[in-house]
Amino acid sequence: MSSQTLTIETETAGSLAQEVAARSGQNLNACYQCRRCAAGCPVGDDTGVTPDRLIRMVLLGDREAALNNLLVWQCVACYTCGTRCPNNIHTARITETLKQMVKEQHLEPMTPKVAYFHNAFLTSTSHFGRLNEMEFMGIYEIKNAQNELKKGGGIKAIIVELKNQMQLGKEMMKLKRMHFSIDKIKGLAEIKRLFAKAKK
Ligand code: SF4
Ligand code: SF4
Repeated sequence: MSSQTLTIETETAGSLAQEVAARSGQNLNACYQCRRCAAGCPVGDDTGVTPDRLIRMVLLGDREAALNNLLVWQCVACYTCGTRCPNNIHTARITETLKQMVKEQHLEPMTPKVAYFHNAFLTSTSHFGRLNEMEFMGIYEIKNAQNELKKGGGIKAIIVELKNQMQLGKEMMKLKRMHFSIDKIKGLAEIKRLFAKAKK
């Protein structure tokens, strides 16, 4: 568990909590810090932040801590915390909300690769209603390469990475885990409406 001291932002505490509660649909104020969620979170130890701690950051209005912690990016949305919570608080919806807030505010994500993965997944799903592996890998790899270049990474390392990914793609195709065809779901219009509504 993180031993980082949280800051109480008295002026903004209410507004941050209200925004996160409204966008995530979770009643954060019901959290009484029993930590039942913390005991079951599979990534709490690695990220140094457990679900109860994240909720505390938001309730205290510590925007900096709430938007800059590894749980936001490494939450695997297993929903264990929510099923254990006596107050039915699903932290996965809170981490999702905080991810969106980081993106909207153009802040640097703590784990860029997870952010690119997330973006690529949502972009491809919004086009076809399901994941298209070719499009997904394309978006993800381009974003990674751009980031490496921005950081001053060598072009050679980028080419090696792209070659490795192409090799992986070929092997996945052999195993029929990846294909060139474009499959769209029947209710695509409905999915597009959901994405448009979520964006609003
Ligand atoms: S289980 Fe629910 S009430 Fe208890 S600390 Fe976690 S979020 Fe808060
Ligand atoms: S949904 Fe996220 S925060 Fe909740 S237990 Fe799973 S990994 Fe932890």
